[in-house]
Amino acid sequence: MVNEKSIKRFLNLKVRWIRNMNKLALDPRTLQLSSRKNRPYSCILFTMKLKETEIRKMIEVAALVRRNAFILHSSHRVGASVLTDGGEIYSGCNVQSVISGLGTCAERSAIDHAVAHGHYRFRAVCVIDDGLLPPCGACLQNMLLFSQVAGREIQIVCADMKGLYRIYVLSKLLPLGYRTKRYLRKMRAYGNRK
Ligand SMILES: [Zn+2]
Repeated sequence: MVNEKSIKRFLNLKVRWIRNMNKLALDPRTLQLSSRKNRPYSCILFTMKLKETEIRKMIEVAALVRRNAFILHSSHRVGASVLTDGGEIYSGCNVQSVISGLGTCAERSAIDHAVAHGHYRFRAVCVIDDGLLPPCGACLQNMLLFSQVAGREIQIVCADMKGLYRIYVLSKLLPLGYRTKRYLRKMRAYGNRK
């Protein structure tokens, strides 16, 4: 039966639930400040600082490959490059398709290029466009997968054709991305391959 008391109880529950939601929405980076024992399995441990020469090289490679973008529906050319742990740089560009949903972004194309050469640990991904645009959600989620492979942050260098760039860390752009626990061991095994 609905009476004043039950409505009050319902509203109280709702307020408590919303409070909990706010707690859950905290930036997961703050979880890193908790003790080592309490850290979630998926937390990102550290970031390797990029050298100026590495940033410049990544932007150069991405700008060069941008010219090869396969574009059909728009004039949107994007170039990308990936910096591996060993210092190798692999490039990729966007490839559009006549079938909607089949196109590939430059960032994922660069990551796939590196994987095809047997690299699974990445320090940074660079993307170059007309303006300073961060990667799309699908690419960020894909980077998060490889961030789990290496057990560390991936830095994202967003550059424009005028030579300006800005660096972000993946967890800032995708704080609540999907992290897998089920395949973590298999993924880490790729990361440890020699
Ligand atoms: Zn994308």
